[in-house]
Amino acid sequence: MKITLQLAAAKLRAADNILVTAHINPDGDAIGSTLAMLQILRTMGKNVVAYIDDKIPKNFTVMPFAEEIRQPREDEKFSADLLVVLDTSPDRIGNVKNLTDAPILNIDHHITNSGDEGDLYVDANAAATCEIIFQLCKELDAEISKNVAVCLYTGLATDTGFFNYSNTRPSTLRAAADLVEAGVEPNLISEQVEIRSFRDIQILSAALQTTKLFYGGKVAGMFIDRELYKQVETTEGLIDLIRVIDGVEVAFLLTEKERDVCRVSMRSKGVEVSSIAKRLGGGGHVRAAGCTINKNLDTSKRLLIRTIGEFMIENGYLRPLDFENREEINLADMTFADE
Ligand code: 5GP
Ligand code: MN
Repeated sequence: MKITLQLAAAKLRAADNILVTAHINPDGDAIGSTLAMLQILRTMGKNVVAYIDDKIPKNFTVMPFAEEIRQPREDEKFSADLLVVLDTSPDRIGNVKNLTDAPILNIDHHITNSGDEGDLYVDANAAATCEIIFQLCKELDAEISKNVAVCLYTGLATDTGFFNYSNTRPSTLRAAADLVEAGVEPNLISEQVEIRSFRDIQILSAALQTTKLFYGGKVAGMFIDRELYKQVETTEGLIDLIRVIDGVEVAFLLTEKERDVCRVSMRSKGVEVSSIAKRLGGGGHVRAAGCTINKNLDTSKRLLIRTIGEFMIENGYLRPLDFENREEINLADMTFADE
């Protein structure tokens, strides 16, 4: 059920033992909002723990209290009276789901979150869940310490591509300004988040070589197979290198993480990639979305390219002719001319 921010604040005030979590494959916003909530609720005198069912990427371990985020063990239980789920619907929190049966308070900025499970405060116009937590602090009369500010700023910065994407709105920049006033040093956040190993930079060339254009150059894709994936520390930011290609409306990164587990990231200049991701069991935002396809790399590739093409035709971004007669793809047997 959808609720107001005021009611969300009231539910937090009323709880004593709170478990905070966010989505698997956590990004800066998931981790930042979790760590900000952890600190804010502790300052309010609550007993709070944070769990995320994944490793915390090294670039984000610089956020204060990151070491406190636990990964649930199998059969572990935690006695909570509220489960706070951030930056996703509760179906993407992995084994954290099994830790507790506590009622769910869900706070999110994803348009694809329907609020079927638990109480949901969703603001799809907020650039990041961290922007909502910033507003929630006002609702709770909670002071924003430097440590909280660092977490919130990191979430805002990463979900907006350092305030470049179209989700950057005046209130995002006002929040960022307040956070800088609270002690955040933007250059340090950017250095820590954007740092890459020498090896990753060397491997970049191999990753970039896999880039291909489809549908007359309106779609660009990069493919990281298991071999390449094993060698890189992070794939963060790779998609930003190809979404800038002239004429490209949809860019995607297809990563084979394990056998039959392919992660998809999509970015667009306006095509609703959230709808494309939804067709493949994922979700996200209009211009940034993702999903997981549990098939091998080749099958995932065909399925993804076809789904993107079908959606673009249905919505007038591509003419059927582009789709059927492109040299890159043949609808009849789904084989690629270049393979
Ligand atoms: P990214 O490409 O950075 O992994 O994800 C882009 C956006 O889509 C993020 O806001 C992320 O939360 C959302 N997203 C990515 N993968 C999935 C998925 O499998 N399911 C859902 N519901 N959202 C996703
Ligand atoms: Mn987010």
